[in-house]
Amino acid sequence: MIPIYLDYAATTPVDPVVAEAMASCLTLDGTFANTASRSHLYGWQAEEAVETARGQVAELIGADPREIVWTSGATESNNLALKGVFESAGKHTTAHLAVAAIEHKSVLDPAQWLADQGQQLSLIEPDRNGQITAAAVRSALRDNTRLVSVMLVNNELGTINPIAEIARVCREHGCLLHVDAAQALGKMPLNVAQLGADLLSMSAHKMYGPKGVGALYVRRSPDVKVAAQIHGGGQERGMRSGTLATHQCVGFGVAAELAARELDSVPPRIAALRDRLWSGIAELPGVRLNGHPTERACGHLNVSFGQVDGELLLLSLRELALSTGSACTSATMAPSYVLKAIGLNDAEALASLRITLGRYSTAADVDRSISHINAVVGKLVAKVS
Ligand code: PMP
Repeated sequence: MIPIYLDYAATTPVDPVVAEAMASCLTLDGTFANTASRSHLYGWQAEEAVETARGQVAELIGADPREIVWTSGATESNNLALKGVFESAGKHTTAHLAVAAIEHKSVLDPAQWLADQGQQLSLIEPDRNGQITAAAVRSALRDNTRLVSVMLVNNELGTINPIAEIARVCREHGCLLHVDAAQALGKMPLNVAQLGADLLSMSAHKMYGPKGVGALYVRRSPDVKVAAQIHGGGQERGMRSGTLATHQCVGFGVAAELAARELDSVPPRIAALRDRLWSGIAELPGVRLNGHPTERACGHLNVSFGQVDGELLLLSLRELALSTGSACTSATMAPSYVLKAIGLNDAEALASLRITLGRYSTAADVDRSISHINAVVGKLVAKVS
């Protein structure tokens, strides 16, 4: 039996319309040229295609196209934002950086790298719902805080953070705010001016675009200085060198336009399916919802299954393709640092699943998932008791 795909937060399939647009940028009869080839028609066409895509991505977040820097994905965007801001102030100046303790590793690791280089780092702890409150951010600030980084939607829990409130705190204090929006883009209305973000990371493959492309929003007015992390031909106004991958940018652009068009219809449909799934499993013994009960992205369910063995649980759910949110190291499972930060112990964290639905999820998938989870958990609970 083909497993039901319930891992949309890990990645999404490319929309066929997106794939078609990408394919038109590869071969001789398509828009294949180097966007930096200013001396011929092929180059102009490629440049036009990439600039159209830049406009589509900018439109999705209410930005000016000149504020969009293409990257290879949210990992690179996060690295560019954090390292770029600190490096732009000069190698020898020391300042403070505050990041949420439950950020994705692509924020936590560059933050730690900056700390290893002599910058000061503090981690902002979430509340029990996995939210980073504006008050928690305020108490983390120091006189020399240069940058705060808080994600819009947590990738494991789906919890939405109060970014606009956090941005007000940062603005009052005079520091910059970076927002990792990889899990939010296309799932909720997003406007950088309303959010108050100075920098915002995006990834195409979480929203039916291709893997290997993303973008960083860098505010222009007043302008935020970001030092390049990849040097070379000076593309992307010197912030990110390298020949642009026309097909990737075009794919991201079309995915952004589709997401914008569907924003009123698709996320509510996915949220209804997610709620149907939760109500079908909520009565199981020991089951608990992790993360915020209402301030949650449309596709996310993170559930603890009491005392059952987490590894056995995942192995037994053969009909579902999902993740535990826990990293598998060589032979053992490591409990998720996100779940531990919101108060779960190791066993509870290991017995938790991240179920994420998306655009191609159906009511039939949800009903089959409910029966399967009930049957498997029922058996495992009987074993424990
Ligand atoms: N940030 C968040 C919140 C994510 O969920 C992910 C993807 N797991 C990333 C960053 C990294 O994105 P990418 O795969 O585009 O590098």
